[in-house]
Amino acid sequence: MRNTEDNYRHKGMRQQLVNQLRKEGITNETVLAAIKEVPRHVFLDSSFVEFAYSDQAFPIGSGQTISQPSTVAFQTELLAVGKGMKVLEIGTGSGYQACVLAAMGARVFSIERQRNLFFRTKEILEQLPFRLKLFLGDGFEGLPTYAPFDRIIITAGAPCIPPKLIEQLKPNGIMVIPMDNTEGGQTMLRITKQPDGSFAQEEFGNFKFVPMLSGTASD
Ligand code: SAH
Repeated sequence: MRNTEDNYRHKGMRQQLVNQLRKEGITNETVLAAIKEVPRHVFLDSSFVEFAYSDQAFPIGSGQTISQPSTVAFQTELLAVGKGMKVLEIGTGSGYQACVLAAMGARVFSIERQRNLFFRTKEILEQLPFRLKLFLGDGFEGLPTYAPFDRIIITAGAPCIPPKLIEQLKPNGIMVIPMDNTEGGQTMLRITKQPDGSFAQEEFGNFKFVPMLSGTASD
């Protein structure tokens, strides 16, 4: 059982994080409110509370990381999420990004490929007040049964724009995807699907993600 206590000290640290994100150029108030609401320390082991609200990625086991808060804020801002939208996330990881989307009023569907990580995260999320639909599977396949989605967010470094995910995006839908570049990192792309099925692409700088891999794994 995880300690889900969220005291005034945690809330104070979260407020400081929000102030810092504002300074770094995040302006969307709904995104900032969601970051203020979601207790990021609950996603890390309790000995790492201090790290939970500093702007850094952190190991969550199974060789994976919880994304850096500024990256979560940046991707979420690009995604332009509205209340009630159906959002598909690829790479549940700790579940933090998924909770930020849920706190914004999105209907969140999230896929994780690593079994142990999936079950650990599921258990943590059951103790939090955010309602999410979690799936163990390969994000390259998306979720045809639940498609189409208003928004798709990929939180692992993608080798390509997965064709099946484009198919599962609604017309005028948006996908935010960190795509592998030649410098060994990823370029953040925002893809907007046009009503004729083609897509427009914008670039938003360099990032560093763990890789998006196909198939599922046991760890
Ligand atoms: N959104 C996460 C970030 C996790 S890091 C968070 O807020 O914590 C990226 C995650 O993507 C890892 O857990 C990794 O296992 C997962 N992943 C990589 N390739 C995947 C795929 N094809 N389908 C689903 N998940 C994948």
